[in-house]
Amino acid sequence: MPELPEVETIRRIVERELVGLSLAGVDLRLAKLLRDSPLPDLRLLIGREIESAERRAKVLITHWSGDLSVLTHFKLAGQLAVVRPDGRRIVAGHPVPDPTGPLPHKSTHLMLTFDDETIAYYSDLRQFGWWRLMPSADVEGALASFAFGPEGTGGEAFDRERLADRLGRRRIAVKPALLDQRVVAGLGNIYVDEALHRARIHPGRPANSLSLVEIAALHEAIRWALERGIEQGGADIRRGKAYPRDGFPAIHARKGEPCMRCGTSIVKIPLGGRGTYYCPRCQPDPEA
Ligand SMILES: [Zn+2]
Repeated sequence: MPELPEVETIRRIVERELVGLSLAGVDLRLAKLLRDSPLPDLRLLIGREIESAERRAKVLITHWSGDLSVLTHFKLAGQLAVVRPDGRRIVAGHPVPDPTGPLPHKSTHLMLTFDDETIAYYSDLRQFGWWRLMPSADVEGALASFAFGPEGTGGEAFDRERLADRLGRRRIAVKPALLDQRVVAGLGNIYVDEALHRARIHPGRPANSLSLVEIAALHEAIRWALERGIEQGGADIRRGKAYPRDGFPAIHARKGEPCMRCGTSIVKIPLGGRGTYYCPRCQPDPEA
């Protein structure tokens, strides 16, 4: 669930709340969180400060003093909670554990304590997320190995022609094609549904069947959906239902609710193994 907007929200929290703090303690409760980590011991960070936080696609990169960096991937269920010494709590990512509930939760796998007694809790119900510690000089190479496509939020690399080219080569359905991080980096299940709904494209259409007009609409819709998500501080989906009840996401996790554009009941289908939501009227299936 943490997709680009949720990870960007987490990055902003790290930048605002943790940059400048020095690490005092590490409590790692799940050793496999560090699988494939070039440097396998987070205690190497003790005594060092977080200097900056970046993001590439859905990967958070924190840079620490002394030229060490950490890559964090939140995968399906990662959550970061920062608790300040005055009790103020800032939470982003997956909605479990309850952002207002007791911490550490049984799914809390890592606690970082800083010199001012701020604590960062990493929780992950599904345990697919990972942390990798490495020399800062190795970050670029580590990111290059993912072969991420352009960021869907914009920049010159994300242009219509390139999107048309990438989708034009794929015969698979447009939704799984868009979930491929080499096509557009950062898009996941929620924001693909939002973008396709806004662009009025059925998620099961073959990627190479889209007209240039549809590609243009989709290009605009991808940026819109990601930016809208960032603006809102990420999507809020609990027990398969989207909140706020009348807002964004407009289509994802709203099975049976009226489409906000036309009032038709929203449908959920499995597509490429992912729960997929669409409006049968706004996004007609050409084969139906
Ligand atoms: Zn509709």
